Amino acid sequence: MDDLERLADDIRDAETVVAFTGAGISEPSGVPTFRGDDGVWDKFDEGQFTYGRFRRDPEGFWNDRVELQRVMFDGEYEPNAAHEALAAMGRDGYLEAILTQNTDGLHGEAAESVGDESAAEEADETTILELHGNSQRVRCIDCGKRVDGDPIFERAADGERPPTCDCGGVYKPDVVLFGEQLPGAVIQRARSLARESDVFLAIGSSLVVEPAASLPRLAASSGATVGIVNLESTPVDGSADVIVREDVTDVLPAIRDLVEK
Ligand SMILES: [Zn+2]
Repeated sequence: MDDLERLADDIRDAETVVAFTGAGISEPSGVPTFRGDDGVWDKFDEGQFTYGRFRRDPEGFWNDRVELQRVMFDGEYEPNAAHEALAAMGRDGYLEAILTQNTDGLHGEAAESVGDESAAEEADETTILELHGNSQRVRCIDCGKRVDGDPIFERAADGERPPTCDCGGVYKPDVVLFGEQLPGAVIQRARSLARESDVFLAIGSSLVVEPAASLPRLAASSGATVGIVNLESTPVDGSADVIVREDVTDVLPAIRDLVEK
């Protein structure tokens, strides 16, 4: 556990700590993964969920999307011990930002559930940057309004396809679809947080796709201590100071305990 102690010391001394998370942090909550055996793309044709198809054939897109939503978010998922440890470190002022590839909204839920015992007077909240959007929300492509997805997915399930906003615009799941660019402002923000960080923790991500692959490298080249918590090796391991191949739901609470002891 020497590595974790070193990481905890660096976190305590750091001005800016940034966590980056991928699907591996939500797997213990039961959220299905997209890739790999038994992944969502084993059951669905990912070619049906492109931005191009959404523009061309919003009705067909929504027909398939209703099914996808049923499989993906059938159960109610709860944040797990890893989400909660990060949320608690954020509440207690140790974490500047959480950047996530996940669209399940569990970091936001964890932040709500840990409450703000001490944070009531603390000015800064931990920034949660959802790089790929949030699949619990939809967004009107005309007026840009974002609303809670549940009632909209229900309307779509009841036959309103595509569902539309009061303004007449079509609703789109508020996620980055295949063939759609990640919002430039979000990427900029993520890159500058990585650059500013004194400690950069990459958690539950294979760090293969962009921008996941370049953020830890950017942090490392800016002098940050980089820690990687992931069960499998990643292409960025060579840039990391600390690598932990254990379950995120064990490691994150352990780090938190060491930081806050
Ligand atoms: Zn609208």
